[in-house]
Amino acid sequence: MEQESPPGYVMLLSSADMMADESCREDAARIAALPAALRDELRKYLQQLLAGVERSDRACIWLDKSTMRCRHHEHRPSICRDFEIGTDKCQSWRQEFGIDQ
Ligand code: SF4
Repeated sequence: MEQESPPGYVMLLSSADMMADESCREDAARIAALPAALRDELRKYLQQLLAGVERSDRACIWLDKSTMRCRHHEHRPSICRDFEIGTDKCQSWRQEFGIDQ
């Protein structure tokens, strides 16, 4: 299991149809409100992904690994907002990534 970028954002950025889809309205608005530097960071990641560039680090590009916190918490996508810390799913992810409990 890997999550190399903010869930859903790269897919939205690469599809005007998805950006216009009502079910993606909240995240589309968040992407539209991102500072240009963050949108550029996501586009750069997408270009590398499409070019087949493999990252040695499989963690989300917005994760600050020194603090294990999101670097852009205020801009995080819906799925990150809905994720409940401390649940079985959360523990499963932490185990998957070897994060100390
Ligand atoms: S909370 Fe932040 S660091 Fe974690 S997956 Fe979402 S965008 Fe990435």
